[in-house]
Amino acid sequence: MRKRIPRIAPDGALDLILRCAKPLGSVRAPLADALGAVLAEDVRADRDLPPAPRSAMDGYAVRAADLRKVPCELRLAGEVAAGSDARPRVRPGTCVRILTGGNVPPGADAVVMVETTEERDGRVLFRRSPECGANTRLRGEDAKKDEVLLAAGSVLGARGVGMCAAVGRGSLRVGRRPRIALLTTGAELRPIEARVRAHEVRDSNGPMLRAALATWGFAAGTVRSAPDDFVIIAAKLRRLIARHDAVLLSGGVSVGRYDFVREAVERVGARVRFHGVAMKPGKPLLYATLPRNRHVFGLPGNPVSSAIGFHEFALPGLRRLAGAPPDECRPAMRVPLAEKFASRRGPLRFVLGRLVWGNGGPTVERVRSSGSSDLVAGGRADGVIAVPGDGRTLARGTLVEFRPWRPLP
Ligand code: AMP
Ligand code: MG
Repeated sequence: MRKRIPRIAPDGALDLILRCAKPLGSVRAPLADALGAVLAEDVRADRDLPPAPRSAMDGYAVRAADLRKVPCELRLAGEVAAGSDARPRVRPGTCVRILTGGNVPPGADAVVMVETTEERDGRVLFRRSPECGANTRLRGEDAKKDEVLLAAGSVLGARGVGMCAAVGRGSLRVGRRPRIALLTTGAELRPIEARVRAHEVRDSNGPMLRAALATWGFAAGTVRSAPDDFVIIAAKLRRLIARHDAVLLSGGVSVGRYDFVREAVERVGARVRFHGVAMKPGKPLLYATLPRNRHVFGLPGNPVSSAIGFHEFALPGLRRLAGAPPDECRPAMRVPLAEKFASRRGPLRFVLGRLVWGNGGPTVERVRSSGSSDLVAGGRADGVIAVPGDGRTLARGTLVEFRPWRPLP
């Protein structure tokens, strides 16, 4: 007789996962491998940025006082290109050719852009009077030495990588990301390039989950696969969970005659925390834990349910393990509906949605689907709209909660 484990509410399921998943601690990572990781330290400016007054233009460094009356000519007294350490003094009556990023030479207090000047025989003709400070960037105007540029707890994106490089951080302390294994189950599954007969399907969840992990900065090794055989699933799971922090299974998690994931999870000694979430689609979802901060997610086999279960529950758990603050583990945003939508009474529903980018920002439109097995519709969606089952009709323009399947800028 199975122990009955009550179906859990979606919010409760997420809370439980976020409480069970403890950050895995931090490691030192080369900057080149740190994209998508959670910073475990503040990144600070190693010097003032910019470190010296710099020119923002190609032109001439001048003393603004010399150009009160224009047109006027000044004698050219040198040049400072980007990367040049020349410091020709700008004395009254002279100017220095300067290029974008060149340090403003001593004596100068403005840069005049080249387009408004004429240079001939060592003299430059100016037609406009610059303001003091024109076209120059002050030392430290972007950030002062030791200022925090990226705070611990933030996820490192591409621009963050650039900032780290700019302040000399070739390596960083980041949250250790979990070692993740993927195991798809199903007697009907075939590899991508195999010939498929009418009763077979290609394993699409394996590649989808692996790619979804990569999208969020996680790596998973080769996708393993097992038939609907209790002994084989249990043996594979036992081996995988010994060497990984988390195992994600797909399929076999419902209560059908050939659904063995629950029993296999129990056989390897994992504690089932919940089996079944009050939501549609994707109800038969399982979460279990093992000692030493190890986690098993049993995702449904239907491709849309699998994607929803992954993004709603597995991904937040993995992000928490990687050190993300609990509130940031499951991204959500409020977006206006592009079209009216009638919700039904019942459990929380996830409706496939696609963001439509207009002038006033995005709206979300439904992606029509024939059901949770409709991987074509799933493939066209950017995420899901969480629709409470209160039977209300949501007018066009109503702000709804959208759960994106990609990190937002
Ligand atoms: P299950 O959750 O095992 O009952 O599977 C539900 C449905 O999802 C079945 O129609 C399966 O054929 C399909 N399915 C299961 N696993 C996969 C997979 N890895 N890739 C694509 N479809 C799958
Ligand atoms: Mg199955």
